[in-house]
Amino acid sequence: TQAKKLGLTSKILIGMGGGILFGLLLRNLFPESTFIDEYITQGFLHVIGTIFVSGLKMLVVPLVFISLVCGTCSLSDPSKLGRLGGKTIAFYLFTTAIALSMAILIAIMIHPGNASLVSEGLSFNAKEAPSLAEVIINIVPTNPLQAMSEGNMLQIILFAVIFGFAISHIGERGKRVAALFNDLNEVIMRVVTLIMQLAPYGVFALMAKLALTLGLETFGSVLKYFFVVLGVLLLHGFLVYPSLLKVFSGLNPFTFIRKMRDVQLFAFSTASSNATLPVTIETAEHRLGVDNKIASFTLPLGATINMDGTAIMQGVATVFIAQVYGVDLTITDYAMVVVTATLASIGTAGVPGVGLIMLAMVLNQVGLPVEGISLIIGVDRLLDMVRTAVNVTGDTVATVVIAKSEGGLNEEIFNDTQAGKTAG
Ligand code: ASP
Repeated sequence: TQAKKLGLTSKILIGMGGGILFGLLLRNLFPESTFIDEYITQGFLHVIGTIFVSGLKMLVVPLVFISLVCGTCSLSDPSKLGRLGGKTIAFYLFTTAIALSMAILIAIMIHPGNASLVSEGLSFNAKEAPSLAEVIINIVPTNPLQAMSEGNMLQIILFAVIFGFAISHIGERGKRVAALFNDLNEVIMRVVTLIMQLAPYGVFALMAKLALTLGLETFGSVLKYFFVVLGVLLLHGFLVYPSLLKVFSGLNPFTFIRKMRDVQLFAFSTASSNATLPVTIETAEHRLGVDNKIASFTLPLGATINMDGTAIMQGVATVFIAQVYGVDLTITDYAMVVVTATLASIGTAGVPGVGLIMLAMVLNQVGLPVEGISLIIGVDRLLDMVRTAVNVTGDTVATVVIAKSEGGLNEEIFNDTQAGKTAG
């Protein structure tokens, strides 16, 4: 009977396809109808879609805090925590460097930029990027509750790690607190699976709204840019990551890809690594067999600082904009692009569209006109969805590799195709 029920993934896919069809149908049947716009696009679809994304976001802060406290209070040895942190950050930087080099090389080879585009340039107001000193100072919260209410992930991570660490150092009483947090963790994971059941409807609404509002006219002039970014994203997601998984941990990459489908679908429809985080953690722990100690640390950190998909877009975009404006970049410039785009992707928050804003920092650094961003803004929405799926896949690959190397991976669960499956 289990087999007859549709799995969650199939339901989400049906919601996705149905939403796109529904949106395209309405768009073509009633072009420019204010009724559709007011009551369907901005009304019913907007309400359902937003409620779904809010439901996911609602879980992020309590989930990260509780789960990470659980993770660290079972890690009583500080050197272990330091090693875990070091390994995680090194692996994240390594994959981002691969992503950027590939993006830049392919963009130079395919040469998507054409100088005739420049006349269409509009203006774009760049936001000031924070300085490195500010970034470092900002990791320490002055008020942990404020950090939580603002959803400041790095500050929450730091506070949770210290808090959990202290729990493991106060003996018997600490054990009681740890037991409480473990129970709370069960509760919040159950809430995650409940909200996940809403995904097919939420995804339907998000996709229908997208199909109704996306202006496809803007695609023409930057089609080549679009396909270069898309191509590199797919290459990274489906070739580089599975190979890294095989090389570093010897695990079956196909099992991994199959089990990542839900996470990728959530990331694609919400375009937010943060909103997807509950699903990423659920999948890593229950379907891929990663120990909570590892996943509760690496995944929130990854959703905040590890954005390979975003780096790819920024790499291709920089080369593209240089080509459009006829600027010849030198080898030093390219090295600068790699360094600043790595920093920019680290600084990109896991919410929709921020990667494009951070691109301004990269362009500034190599002296390219920031207005160039206005050329690619029209196609960014779709790319944002795909790159977010790549971003969360990167976080999870790193998590599995590190878990394996730290003895925190249950390979029986990893290889069991039915493990943790949420049948709808
Ligand atoms: N939307 C992306 C994410 O959440 C960030 C970005 O590139 O804009 O991962």
